Amino acid sequence: MNFKLLALILLTVVYAYKLFTLFLERRSFSNPIPANVSDIYDRETYAKWRAYSAEKSFWQFVSAVASYVLTFVLLLTDAFSRFAGLFGGNIYLSSCAVTLLSLVADTVLSCVFAYVDDMIVEQKYGFNNTKGKTFVADQIKGFVIGLLLNIGLTMLLLGLHKWLGDYMVIAFAVALFVIILFISFLFPFLTKIFNKFTPLEDGELRQKLTALLEKNGYKVRAIQVMDASRRSNKSNAYFTGFGKTKTIVLYDTLVASSTPDEICAVFAHEMGHGLNKDTLKNQVFSFVNIALMALCAYLTVKYDALFKPFGFDGVNYGMALILVGEIEMALLSPLLGLFTSWRSRKAEYRADEQAVKEGYGDELVSALKTLARKNFAHLAPSPLIVKLEYSHPTLSQRIDAIEKAKAKTRTEGV
Ligand SMILES: [Zn+2]
Repeated sequence: MNFKLLALILLTVVYAYKLFTLFLERRSFSNPIPANVSDIYDRETYAKWRAYSAEKSFWQFVSAVASYVLTFVLLLTDAFSRFAGLFGGNIYLSSCAVTLLSLVADTVLSCVFAYVDDMIVEQKYGFNNTKGKTFVADQIKGFVIGLLLNIGLTMLLLGLHKWLGDYMVIAFAVALFVIILFISFLFPFLTKIFNKFTPLEDGELRQKLTALLEKNGYKVRAIQVMDASRRSNKSNAYFTGFGKTKTIVLYDTLVASSTPDEICAVFAHEMGHGLNKDTLKNQVFSFVNIALMALCAYLTVKYDALFKPFGFDGVNYGMALILVGEIEMALLSPLLGLFTSWRSRKAEYRADEQAVKEGYGDELVSALKTLARKNFAHLAPSPLIVKLEYSHPTLSQRIDAIEKAKAKTRTEGV
């Protein structure tokens, strides 16, 4: 069996699946809107939402096709080995060269489509606040971070394989896990590269948030407002920090558009995740993903025959990561996605229940509705896509569940 042909066929399967999900999503734009969320958009806004979604989905489709064609051509023409050949026989240099070429190709495409998405489509519908300068700076920062990570990963795979041979599979999995933990630890610092944070001023919101968290045994290190409006009008909020000491981050767009009680409702939900140990559970399950990826990487670098059809003399570690990422893990990802998104949606329901227990059921519903309106959410997505990809239940499903939880708390209270 010619492995190159097989790789190209599998790559085609990966993208055919991607296009199929985009098609399902596109078809769902005309689904009827559930009654409990029919007040989100008025007729005019709904028409605007449909036009916006159709345009976004068109560009996602073009972007997927472009990415497929580019990857296909690079693999077909042995572009990676030709480029690596420029750096002589040094395995470190030639592996890094392949990683670099792959990253540059990805970056060029992603810059073009990010430009279309942010500066043209989002701009047209009034979401985009990103200035040209911020956009360019974001792309450069993103490229540098991506370069450091990808070169680091290539060197790690190479080093561990040379050093430990077959035992590398365990070491690689553990190393990846540590890196991911490290990045989540670095996350608050990374966001500072992209945004500015200012402490929330004293007042009702600060007092209520602090009281809510402290009542449940948390310590509030800081409440910060992030200048999200610099890029977009879309709204969000999150917690950072390990253990019981938390930093609360609110998008300035959320503070501007919600009441203090609605923001407390959002945090009662976030706190629910904390009390249910969802982050910890996610980390345990992400280890399963990582172990699979390490196994794929191990099986790939074990057989140097896999590399010869692409013009290499033997194993190239940059190429190995491309095969693992673009083909092997991409084929597994729908299955993994089905499971992880199911777990995640369950956790979201439980976190909503926590907000109801804190007495914020109604405020959570109105906060979710405001967020959906602000973020131009899809109110009636394809049920299959929800099952495969959605980390959160749909707004309608959440409101239903919140109403049920409210009724249950009332009867328990009696
Ligand atoms: Zn959540």
